Amino acid sequence: MDVNRVRDWIDAADTVTVLTGAGVSTESGIPDYRGPNGAWTKDPDSAKYVDIDYYVRDPAIRRRAWIRRREHEAWTVEPNPAHHALVTLEARGKLTKLITQNIDGLHQKAGQTPTNVLEIHGNIFGVECLGCDATTTMRATLDRVAAGEDDPACLSCGGILKSSTIFFGQQLKTDVLYAAAESAQSCDLFLSVGTSLTVHPAAGLVDIALQSGARLVICNAEPTPYDHRADAVLTDPIGQTLPAILNN
Ligand SMILES: [Zn+2]
Repeated sequence: MDVNRVRDWIDAADTVTVLTGAGVSTESGIPDYRGPNGAWTKDPDSAKYVDIDYYVRDPAIRRRAWIRRREHEAWTVEPNPAHHALVTLEARGKLTKLITQNIDGLHQKAGQTPTNVLEIHGNIFGVECLGCDATTTMRATLDRVAAGEDDPACLSCGGILKSSTIFFGQQLKTDVLYAAAESAQSCDLFLSVGTSLTVHPAAGLVDIALQSGARLVICNAEPTPYDHRADAVLTDPIGQTLPAILNN
């Protein structure tokens, strides 16, 4: 049984680095992007809300993006057994870093120590200005939207505001990437969960871990380009698989 084998590996490992993607949050009710019920599959236009070129150019896209942020599932959903199982990994002292592509804050809501979570795509709970360095909270900015400002401008410089997530066309934050790479390089076991491993830099982190001699375990319903290099591939629902391999 692969599950038992992986469980033994995790018991034996001193350091585990985890990478999570949308598949961890779908069981909480947050749609993924490109799947059959994905946000971008159902409404291809919504991908423009996170494309910096469209966003800067078109006030109509920004107005719709603010409405989408008000309605985002992240405000109401709860962590699922997969998130909770990952917290136990930290409690056992094995977690180096939890690197996530998700912007929903569910790992922290489940109880993961915030400094152990590297959000390589940012999160939806902050707001930043494209004109200056000003930052504020999404909550405060959505209050302005609710009060009638359908495209609220920066209170410091009048510039365009956006969520503190990484948009298409934007660079990822180098300090976060560096910490993620370091964590991938220094682990005994690299656990990739709920991500298709088709987007960089997430996929590159797997290469770093493999080059450093780490074991690779992939939990994902769909095949990934790294399956043939993995020591184990688990395709059952993540909410069942993670408690089975992580809870001791
Ligand atoms: Zn500004």
